[in-house]
Amino acid sequence: MKYQLDSGWLAGARRVPSPHCNDRPEGCPVDLLVVHCISLPPGEYGGAHIDAFFLGQLDIDAHPYFAEIAALRVSAHILIDRNGVVTQYVPLDRRAWHAGQSEFNGRCNCNDFSIGIELEGLDTDSYTDAQYAALAEVTAAIQAEYPRITRDNITGHSDIAPGRKLDPGPGFDWQRYYRGLDQVCE
Ligand SMILES: [Zn+2]
Repeated sequence: MKYQLDSGWLAGARRVPSPHCNDRPEGCPVDLLVVHCISLPPGEYGGAHIDAFFLGQLDIDAHPYFAEIAALRVSAHILIDRNGVVTQYVPLDRRAWHAGQSEFNGRCNCNDFSIGIELEGLDTDSYTDAQYAALAEVTAAIQAEYPRITRDNITGHSDIAPGRKLDPGPGFDWQRYYRGLDQVCE
């Protein structure tokens, strides 16, 4: 499915607005795409816990792990679930809270200038065909709006927060992602 941007939102995606966002610094161009993974509880797929987490509404009684993270105020712009369903939480022109302490090419605070995409997954697992297909389509739509996000400016969370983050992990096939992008852009 092709996606188009409409005032910062992907038309055709599920839309679940998160309060976990703020304005980007003035005059700060968006030129980085960060690929992440998340699953809640870790390693369990499906369900509504990721939505709840990014909305600050995680039910701490639903799983012991949730008590550890429920107070965190985080978000991503976009989530792609195991079936390739795309959900957007934060408009792309606003600053989502996905990268944390981070650095890309000598620039800190990557949330200021990046877009964060979460793949439902685990950094020790692989990803689904539907996720690669949706990720390529979403990336192409983002690049059409933000041409500074060239292939060199697409990175993993583990690359901008080394030693602290492992996602999306070795199971994420970057070459496959690039081939998918080539096909979408043909
Ligand atoms: Zn991450």
